[in-house]
Amino acid sequence: MEILRGFKDILPDNIDKWQFLETTARNTIESFGFREIRTPILEKTQLFKRSVGETTDIVEKEMYTFLDKNNESITMRPEGTAGVVRAYIDNHLELSSFKKYYYIGPMFRYERPQKGRLRQFHQIGIEVFGIDEPAIDAEVVYINKALLNNLGINNVRIEINNIGCDMCRPNYMDALKSYFEEYRSQLCEDCQKRLYRNPLRILDCKNEHCRLIAKGAPKITSFACETCRSHYDVVKEKLTDFGVDFIENPMLVRGLDYYTKFVFEIITDKLGAQGTVSAGGRYDNLVEQLGGKSTSGVGFAAGEERLIELIEDYPKNRIDFYIANLDVDEYAVQIANKLRGIGKKVYVEYERRSLKSMMKRANRMNAEFAVIIGENEKNNRKVMVKNLFESKQSEYSLEAFLDEVK
Ligand code: ATP
Ligand code: MG
Repeated sequence: MEILRGFKDILPDNIDKWQFLETTARNTIESFGFREIRTPILEKTQLFKRSVGETTDIVEKEMYTFLDKNNESITMRPEGTAGVVRAYIDNHLELSSFKKYYYIGPMFRYERPQKGRLRQFHQIGIEVFGIDEPAIDAEVVYINKALLNNLGINNVRIEINNIGCDMCRPNYMDALKSYFEEYRSQLCEDCQKRLYRNPLRILDCKNEHCRLIAKGAPKITSFACETCRSHYDVVKEKLTDFGVDFIENPMLVRGLDYYTKFVFEIITDKLGAQGTVSAGGRYDNLVEQLGGKSTSGVGFAAGEERLIELIEDYPKNRIDFYIANLDVDEYAVQIANKLRGIGKKVYVEYERRSLKSMMKRANRMNAEFAVIIGENEKNNRKVMVKNLFESKQSEYSLEAFLDEVK
C-alpha cells in the first residue's frame, strides 16, 4: 500500500529536527505573551470561500472539499487564519483578555507536488486581534524574524508592501485591469481569467512571461488612501526602530484575499522556486466578514517543511542508558525506573540476545552508557557499567551507581 501523492511520513530519523523546530517556535512565540489555540482540521467549506476568497487559487482549485454523510460540504483546512477567526467569533474571545494566539499543525492543499510543495504540509502561525496600532504589525514581523534567528536561519530577506483596503484597492484594480488588458493575449490562461475576476492575482502568477509583463504594471503606492499610506509608513518606522531590515516590493500581493494595508514575506535564496518560508500581514475586515464585530487582525504563517530544509544545527535526542538485560527482567526494570526517576532516558532490552549483539545495538542507538546485568549482578545488587563513548567499563554497587548518576 502506498502513501498518497504529496503526503509524507515524518520518520524518527528526522524527528529531532521537527521537535527542535516546534519547541523553538513555542518558546519564541510564547516569550512574546502568545497562547496556543487548536482548531479543527475540518471546517465548513463556506468558511474558506468567505475568507481566503472565491477567486484565489486555494479556493478555486486547491481545496480538499467533500460532502459528509449528511451532505454538508466540508473542507480540510488549507490555512490556519480562517479557523482561528471562526473560533474567535464562536467562543466570544473578544471578551477574553487574550488577544494573541498561535497554532502549529497540518494544512491541506491539492497542489502539484514538488520540492517544498506538498499536499499535506505544516504551518506555524500567529494571529493578533483588535490591535490597530502599526507597532503590532512590526512586532509580528519581529517575532517571525526572532523565530528564524533562534532556529539558526539567517540568510533571509524580508519583503513588505502596502496592499490597500476596500476604499483604495478598487481603484488600483481598475488601473491593473487597464494595464493588463493591453497584454491580454500574452498572459497565461489562468491570468486571462484573473484579468476580469481579480487582476491583483496576476501580480502573484508564477509564470515567467506573466511576471515579465507584471514588471511594468502600475504600483499601488500611487493609489493607496491616506489611512493605508500612513499606517504603512508607521509600520516601516517601527520596523526600523525594532532593528528589522526590509525591502519594499510593490509587486508583493499574497495569494489570499483577506489582507489589508500591510503584507510581508520572508524569502530565502536557498530553496529555489519555493523560497518563501513565511508570509503574513494585516486583515482588518476578516472578523466582520465572517460574522463577528468589526475587529482588526494581523499575523503570519511559516511553512515548517521549508524551515526544516534550512535548519542546520539542532540537538540530537539520544538514549542515556541501554540496559543490557541478561534474562533478569525484574531487576532491569527496577534499575531503569530509578534512572528514569532522575530524568534519564533508558532503553531496556527484552530480546534474548548475546552480549555482543546487545553492545552493537547500544552503539547504534548512540546510547552513552550500557548497563550490563545478569544473574550474578542481580544476586549481589550490582551493575556493570560501560561508557560507550570512552569504551571504559567498571562495576558498581547499585546504590553507588545511582549516586554517581545523580
Ligand atoms: P506559495 O506562493 O509558495 O504558493 P502561498 O502564497 O500559497 O505560498 P501561504 O498560503 O501564505 O503561501 O502560506 C504560508 C507559507 O506556508 C508559505 O510561505 C510556505 O512556506 C508554506 N506553504 C504554503 N503552501 C505550501 C505547500 N503546498 N507545501 C509546503 N509549504 C507550503
Ligand atoms: Mg500557494
